[in-house]
Amino acid sequence: MQRLDIEKWDVDESRELYSWDKWGEGYFHVNDKGNIEVTPTQDGNAVDLYEIVKTLVGRGVEVPVLIRFDGIIQDRLRKISSAFQEAVNLYSYQSDYRHVFPIKVNQQKHVIDTIRAAGLGKRSGLEVGSKPELLGILALPDDGDSLFLCNGYKDEEYIELALLSRKLGKRTIVIVEQLYECQLILSVAERLGIEAEVGFRMKPSVKGSGRWASSGGDFAKFGLSTHELLIAWKFFSEAGKSDWIKLLHFHIGSQLSSIIPFKKTLAEAAHFYTELAKKCPKLEFFDVGGGLGVDYDGSKTVSDSSMNYTIEEYARDIVYTVGSICKENGVKQPVLISESGRALVAHHSILVTEVIDVSKYDAPVLKLDKPPSDHDLLEDLYQMYHSLTPQNCLEGLHDAHYVKEQILEKFIHGGLSLEERAYVEQVYRNVLVKVHSFYDELEDAHDDIVRLSELLVDIYFCNFSVFQSLPDSWAIQQLFPVMPIHRLAEPPDRKAKIVDLSCDSDGTIERFISQDGPVSSIQLHQFQPHEPYYLGIFLVGAYQEALGGLHNLFGDTNAIHVDMHDDGTWRFKNLIEGDTIREVLQYMQYDPHELSTQLHQVIENALRKGIMTDQEAFMIKKKYKASMENYTYLVV
Ligand SMILES: *Cc1c(COP(=O)(O)O)cnc(C)c1O
Repeated sequence: MQRLDIEKWDVDESRELYSWDKWGEGYFHVNDKGNIEVTPTQDGNAVDLYEIVKTLVGRGVEVPVLIRFDGIIQDRLRKISSAFQEAVNLYSYQSDYRHVFPIKVNQQKHVIDTIRAAGLGKRSGLEVGSKPELLGILALPDDGDSLFLCNGYKDEEYIELALLSRKLGKRTIVIVEQLYECQLILSVAERLGIEAEVGFRMKPSVKGSGRWASSGGDFAKFGLSTHELLIAWKFFSEAGKSDWIKLLHFHIGSQLSSIIPFKKTLAEAAHFYTELAKKCPKLEFFDVGGGLGVDYDGSKTVSDSSMNYTIEEYARDIVYTVGSICKENGVKQPVLISESGRALVAHHSILVTEVIDVSKYDAPVLKLDKPPSDHDLLEDLYQMYHSLTPQNCLEGLHDAHYVKEQILEKFIHGGLSLEERAYVEQVYRNVLVKVHSFYDELEDAHDDIVRLSELLVDIYFCNFSVFQSLPDSWAIQQLFPVMPIHRLAEPPDRKAKIVDLSCDSDGTIERFISQDGPVSSIQLHQFQPHEPYYLGIFLVGAYQEALGGLHNLFGDTNAIHVDMHDDGTWRFKNLIEGDTIREVLQYMQYDPHELSTQLHQVIENALRKGIMTDQEAFMIKKKYKASMENYTYLVV
């Protein structure tokens, strides 16, 4: 159990606690003012996140707001590409590396634009997994050099559009994931008179590691078994189109926490490649899919939220394995592709939320009056509370629990007043807080007392929705780093859990990173009611936006891109306003015109019945109308 020394607190203590130096990949620091600073390109130019938020709020952009640093995407792409470039040089690999961004990881147009603008040498390609994704990027201008990979389940329309995109100058490769697609590709291509390029997605027999391990292995949802792959090859050969086969692809799941199973899959796939290359003269690309991890908790371990390897090791493994296996087999070394999505965009977005209220766990500790009645059990409980000492507190805790249960039993059977019950709840709570206060003095605290410290934490109510902005925190208990973005030179002496605006008990953050592994509470600063207190939720740039839902009709948050210049100045680019109440209602098929007609009718009825005045009618109409155009979150 971590105990904080609140007496001598400075930024170093905060760093120890929130460990941004471990998970932040060098993008986050804290300045002299105790505010988080972001250095997107790690060249020393920094921007104060708290200042950004204050400026935004001053200009009427409300919190929660998603702040995106385009520079971080650029820097990540540079890192991934240069890791591969260095490995290519190191092993004298006879071909090169191309990055392809799988747009399902973040389809936001500005994110795609940033990635396309950021390529190092050759521009990043794009990968789509559905028709909507295909249509989203089909019309982007292209020079024919960057790859366009089409995955996912496909119908005739999907294949028509994918093949037609080649007429726009795109280098489109249709990846066969299911056998039926071969026939469709061939017949559509012949009908349209287009020469196709295809890839095969294989099913590696080795499973990956981490939460998405089932994306690989013999029973994976996608990909061709060896038998099917041979049928597909034969199908194209017999049609005289074996030259169309250009690429071999596998994907063994996202967030690979351990590199070990990946090495094995690589060797398997590389041998697959050399075998296939002997049958397909134009085979040219080896695509390792996604999976490159993000160290969300900074632990550098094989925990689900971490990874036990670096980007450099990952790149070297790929280049070395494919290079040597091709050499042994006398096969030309292919162009290497990785579809790293998470590792590219996770770091660039920070969700900033504001604390709106706090419920302190020890607030009910009042000087207790004598019991409101002379009920024996109430008197017992009262005495128990007063006689608690560090020596008897464990026993006292058990006794108090027993007596409380007895009293509640009485209430259920009608033998107790509301005042008496309220009193019991209050004393019991005080007992817990008092026992807990002895915790620091106890040499070897019993588990029951240790557990109290998980129970007795403040609740910080924050202006955001877990379901909209952090779906993976709710759905798969993924860890995201959370910390205040200012006041980091002050001691955070409250222990808290974070609760969102939704009316759902799952709408909380109850797992936080710490040096000792995940913990159920976070240290935060005292909340001062009239001073804004902002929390940042970091590394949310991958998957969270498209997966987010409208629970309680909390819509998309505001989002803003921050662009840094070489001279260290920054500017806001692309404000993307969050959903208004009108918009989220429309998603649910409410017609705003109809709603206002309805409102008008019920107002008329109320006026006729005399339960409303003209002035009240005016007020409700006006407020209703204005509210429709407002943000779905609280206006603080
Ligand atoms: C989802 C997906 C990716 C991205 O995986 P990351 O782990 O985010 O890098 C890459 N390729 C394919 C085929 C995918 O389905």
